[in-house]
Amino acid sequence: MLATARTFTLDGISARPVRVEVDVHRGLPNFTIVGLPDAAVREARERVRAALVNCGFEFPLRRIVVNLAPASLRKAGPGMDLAIAAALLSASGQLEWERLAQVALVGELALDGSTRSVQGALAMTEAAREVGAEAIVLPAENGPEAALTEGIGVVAVDSLGRLPALAAGEWDPPRPEPLPLELGAPPTAPDLADLRGQPHLRHALEVAAAGGHSLLMVGPPGAGKSLAASRLPSILAPLAPAEALEVARIASACGRLESALVGGRPFRAPHHTISAAGLIGGGTPPRPGEATRAHRGVLFLDELCEFRRDALEALRAPLETGEVSIARAGGRRSLPCRFMLVAAANPCPCGRGEADPDCTCTPYDVQRYQGKLSGALADRIDILAAVRQPSPTEIGGPPGESSATVQDRVCAARERQERRLGEGRCNAEMTPAEARACSLSSEAAALLADLYARQRLSGRAHDRALRLAQTLADLAGIAEIGEEQMAQALQLRRRDNG
Ligand SMILES: [Zn+2]
Repeated sequence: MLATARTFTLDGISARPVRVEVDVHRGLPNFTIVGLPDAAVREARERVRAALVNCGFEFPLRRIVVNLAPASLRKAGPGMDLAIAAALLSASGQLEWERLAQVALVGELALDGSTRSVQGALAMTEAAREVGAEAIVLPAENGPEAALTEGIGVVAVDSLGRLPALAAGEWDPPRPEPLPLELGAPPTAPDLADLRGQPHLRHALEVAAAGGHSLLMVGPPGAGKSLAASRLPSILAPLAPAEALEVARIASACGRLESALVGGRPFRAPHHTISAAGLIGGGTPPRPGEATRAHRGVLFLDELCEFRRDALEALRAPLETGEVSIARAGGRRSLPCRFMLVAAANPCPCGRGEADPDCTCTPYDVQRYQGKLSGALADRIDILAAVRQPSPTEIGGPPGESSATVQDRVCAARERQERRLGEGRCNAEMTPAEARACSLSSEAAALLADLYARQRLSGRAHDRALRLAQTLADLAGIAEIGEEQMAQALQLRRRDNG
């Protein structure tokens, strides 16, 4: 007897359809899975055997062959257990399910037959809708995230034992309540009010958030660099519904989506020992890296100089294009990664800074360190903020402006940008041609031209200054970049501000 079922395997952050074919016939009892299964898929044999028996079904003592098609696609993870079990029950005459071919089944099985959540349930549900499945049957824990997808039935089951009643139409569970997609930051998110004093740093954060500019903070340890970075998501414009779904899809592919994961923009702060593959993604099948997990949010690299050179190099192209491209047998896979880069570094190896009398670094040390700093993504950084230790009066002083107040100004600036550049775009993403088309007052143009000639700015630096000045004009709510905005933009790019 032959039976088939539909399921999915995760590939990056998207799901690919897999057809499970089960053949049961006479012969020495045997259970084989073919079709490029990984170790977790091969182990489905043991889980499915135990789950069947413990749910009161009979495990056929015959020759069983499971084929996972297409054979060229590598199948990973335990998420195909439920589909294999359903097809096996059908092939051995224990499950009569007329509509088995019209539904998709996804889920891992425990030995007692209960279902366990899978990664990427949201992408799988979307893929099931695309291939025209009527409904997707998946573990109860994945129900709320799958229900975010409209236009397809979602059936959440807690056990393999539910299938006969479901197939016979005797059990018709209600559609699970979808996870709430919170577009703004959750109320418990850290607030910018915690950053006291530090007006230069606050301004740099606001400008970075308003225009999507990358930011490097240089200052001694304990000056508040990490604190400032972690507050950035709370002043960014709230996610649009489509963006929130993109973020949810990535979080779902990296693990089960919980309500705690949906809410505001992501903030990722990988440790400096991370590998290039960990940072931008890799492996077979490709796993999203930190850059993709920071999509539509903030990627914070603390101790920038300590990161591995190859890891930072790997980040350069994705920073420019907004996606990671991974070469694989069977084509390239691309993963989205449009994030704001925020980095922090100490001013010198000891961290105190050359101006500090306690700095123990030799001029050679400092020179070498700063060489490292300028090599590390320096040409990808828009804003450089010098951060100093807050004074006791500042620390004991009143809290700073709250995130909500700053966010209002950021949102207004973003709206101006979107009107000019199109939906979802910001000044940092302007092409060189767009940057040069910004309208400038004659004084601002003279200021830029003067600096361009005197300091031999590169074409790239010239365009970056224009993009920053445009963001300052958007924050000020004016149509034309004035002398003041241009001067401020040049100041934000200098090493010795503040
Ligand atoms: Zn030092």
